[in-house]
Amino acid sequence: MDREPRRIIEEAIFENLGPLSTRELILMPRSRWESLRAGITDHRNGKKGLVARCVACGGQVYITTSHGRPLFAHYQGSDPWCPWYSGRNMRPDDARAAQYRGKQESDMHRRMCELIAELAGLDERVESTRVDEYLPPTESAHGRYPDVLVQWRDFGQFAIEYQMSHTFQTEVSQRCIHYDREGIPLLWVLSSFDAEHVPQAVSDVIHRHRGNAFVMDQKAVNASREQRTLVLTCHMSNGVTYDKPVLIRFDALRFPKIQLPYLEDRLTGPLLEQIKLKRLPYFHALRAWGDRMKNLPLSELEPFTERQRVDRLVAAAFSIVAEAAGKPENFASDHPNIRAMLNTFQNSGSLARYARLLTTLIKNTSQRDLLRGKVGEHLQRSITGHRLGHVEQVDEQAPEWQLLRELLPEALDPFIRRQLVDAGALPRWASEP
Ligand SMILES: [Zn+2]
Repeated sequence: MDREPRRIIEEAIFENLGPLSTRELILMPRSRWESLRAGITDHRNGKKGLVARCVACGGQVYITTSHGRPLFAHYQGSDPWCPWYSGRNMRPDDARAAQYRGKQESDMHRRMCELIAELAGLDERVESTRVDEYLPPTESAHGRYPDVLVQWRDFGQFAIEYQMSHTFQTEVSQRCIHYDREGIPLLWVLSSFDAEHVPQAVSDVIHRHRGNAFVMDQKAVNASREQRTLVLTCHMSNGVTYDKPVLIRFDALRFPKIQLPYLEDRLTGPLLEQIKLKRLPYFHALRAWGDRMKNLPLSELEPFTERQRVDRLVAAAFSIVAEAAGKPENFASDHPNIRAMLNTFQNSGSLARYARLLTTLIKNTSQRDLLRGKVGEHLQRSITGHRLGHVEQVDEQAPEWQLLRELLPEALDPFIRRQLVDAGALPRWASEP
């Protein structure tokens, strides 16, 4: 056992996303940090993904789980003088053991691939199956040896990789990128699955299938023979553990434009639902609040209490989102549109200290063009303090910013935003330019 005290990387900074402390990383739900972990590995393997750096030395880091929880770790070749450097990532004994196990597993692997090919071949729509044969590339320099390649009539090629315990994230990432580039759908089939104990390498694959684990077990083999098509056992994550497994036919899967096929999206679906639930009481409260407040002339509202100011900020932010979603509703004032509302609030100074926050919000919605016109000018003037003397802008740490980030994470939480973009599930109102 490694008994040296381990030094951990306490904070990393993600390019385009921002800093993330190890504490925050550990508290993240699994699906969120797995999305980061996959993004980092994909980038390392040549796809546009994520770059994270150690705050102490600037060296690139990845997310490891070898200590039973997600932690940042330096890539090989990083600065040994970094105060958070912790030495080599794999001890030679581990490498030898992995190699030995790999040899034992390869026979079993081959047999399983042949079985999968045989079962797929029962389907009359299947034109050919190939096991471990070279597939020449169309775009990249290197071809691949897919475990099983099935040619379906009216569907085209379809690759299956059979994951044994020694298939690690790098390998998974490289294969995903390759087939993505070649435009061939890829399905990872697991050699085994135990919901009570899911090794990280397996969990990484499940994450890429949006919380779906596909297993070829005895039940699936029997069902495949009965239904004369490829049937798999599917375990779906419910965020805490896994639902009772179901048998699914290959042709019942959804094949998204980006990323791997799945039966149900168990990652972003529940996340969006959770966000919606968090927002719901605010919508109700804002409508009630608006009825009381909107009819009062502005002058009677000044000076604001802090509470009123925050209420108005939330009302303005929700109005921006409503407009961005194509369902205009002004919660904050009687102005006919958010443009007039924002201009008035910046002019009167009532929301001037939130100009930077509102600018960030608007920039991450479909309403970003507003920033090029008068609204943008007004906000900018509040930020630079040209109008009413200097107004201190609240920053990301301020409770108001945190509140809006909590309520509108699709636009204001860079990590949730990235996870949604990644899954092709960012709502239209928060769309990327
Ligand atoms: Zn470092």
